[in-house]
Amino acid sequence: MPEPAKKRVLILGGGFGGLEAARHLERIFKGRDDVEITLISKNNYLVFTSMLAEVVSGSIEAKHVVIPLRECLKRAELKELSIDGLDLGKKTVSCSHPDTGETFLFEYDYLVLALGSMTGYHGIPGAEDFSFPLKNLNNAMVLRNHVIDMFERAELETDPDTRRKLLTFVVAGGGYTGIEVAAELNDYVSASKRFYRNVKAGEVKVVVIDPGDRIMHEMSEGLAEYGLRLLQKRGMEFRLKTRIAGVSKDSVKTEDGSTVDTCTTIWAAGTAPQPVIAALAFADKRGRIEVNEYMEVSGFPGVWAIGDCAVVPDPHTGASYPPTAQHAEREGARVAVNVAASINSKDGDKRPFVYRTMGMLAPLGHRSAVAEIRGVKFSGFFAWFMWRCIYLGKLPGWDRKIRVAIDWLLDMFLPRDIVQLKMEMRQRQNQPQSAVGKS
Ligand SMILES: Cc1cc2nc3c(=O)[nH]c(=O)nc-3n(C[C@H](O)[C@H](O)[C@H](O)COP(=O)(O)OP(=O)(O)OC[C@H]3O[C@@H](n4cnc5c(N)ncnc54)[C@H](O)[C@@H]3O)c2cc1C
Repeated sequence: MPEPAKKRVLILGGGFGGLEAARHLERIFKGRDDVEITLISKNNYLVFTSMLAEVVSGSIEAKHVVIPLRECLKRAELKELSIDGLDLGKKTVSCSHPDTGETFLFEYDYLVLALGSMTGYHGIPGAEDFSFPLKNLNNAMVLRNHVIDMFERAELETDPDTRRKLLTFVVAGGGYTGIEVAAELNDYVSASKRFYRNVKAGEVKVVVIDPGDRIMHEMSEGLAEYGLRLLQKRGMEFRLKTRIAGVSKDSVKTEDGSTVDTCTTIWAAGTAPQPVIAALAFADKRGRIEVNEYMEVSGFPGVWAIGDCAVVPDPHTGASYPPTAQHAEREGARVAVNVAASINSKDGDKRPFVYRTMGMLAPLGHRSAVAEIRGVKFSGFFAWFMWRCIYLGKLPGWDRKIRVAIDWLLDMFLPRDIVQLKMEMRQRQNQPQSAVGKS
């Protein structure tokens, strides 16, 4: 077989890591037409996950937290397809169209795996069927409609116990994602109850359940404690050192034998690998791909993995870098340099991935947040202001920045939107059935 005229780089996944890798490769190979860059992803947009909680509460319009990939890519080709399987021996990737089922086969010379992760339920009975994940835009919109539905149903309900059950919202997982969602939800439900005359004070409750002895284990203890006390003051309930044993359509059972009556469980308690990654023979026991310091998969020259689907070694700690957008983006930029070095047959130009985590920020609702930047701690209004400035800055594209800034401005002066858009809530992968009352 003659060598193909062009070197084919295939990037799988259009999230934080994949998009950044594609953009850097475009820059590196600007003006060179001997390199072909293709990005395959099941959506033609990137979801800015840090703002998903605000889509649920309606403070940001859903479309404003997604970034059209085609707008970001100058020359890379985008294929909106589902990736079904990889054959690293034959250097092929099989894909299909999610609606038509039409199949496609792509050959590559260089492959970057950036497929992220999915919600993980740890085999807890009922968790996948009856809880709401929050990973993508569809999840956020379904959850938002469901929360409004609970209020509408509570308004019609005459039995106070049933009303309380409808208005109890459980968040499984007290990490920064769970707390961000719980705090935002608490603000939303507190602001919404005034529109419902039959909803009594004390009937609306947000409960966070976590097996750890503190919330936000990603942050230092002092900030986590500050966050806990602040949210408790706002009426949120925390059940720490408590493991969930099962979820049903109207309750959450915990391992200590207690039950929370609720029609809404939001699952922020873990991740699982994408099936296509977990199916690879060399995936680790958690279904992720171990890579070396250049993010290359050992034994498969020309194959790299980045972001949440990869285990990238951190030379500072000896462990791996945490699965965050902050790291996925930087890994994407660095992997582009290393792919380019391989294409140019200049292995000496490869650079290891070394990054000092900038810090963590977690919004806590009510214009407050906690932040830890390069070891310096901030809390309250200043941290919240910093969160907004930093995340607005990170949002790609001026149009999105302006739209989100306007949403935030309006949200400061106007009441939260309680319009329920009736969506068809059919069961999908990673998507719960309408957890409630569809007997
Ligand atoms: C609610 C929430 C809030 C978060 N907040 C923060 C935060 O504040 N700060 C932070 O740093 N991180 C945050 N994160 C984590 C962050 O979103 C992830 O670490 C980051 O998205 C990982 O980037 P990635 O490129 O590895 O994967 P992703 O961004 O998840 O991208 C994976 C891509 O692969 C595509 N894909 C997957 N499987 C297939 C398939 N079979 N076929 C085709 N395409 C496929 C997906 O559609 C997606 O485009 C948050 C996550 C969530 C869920």
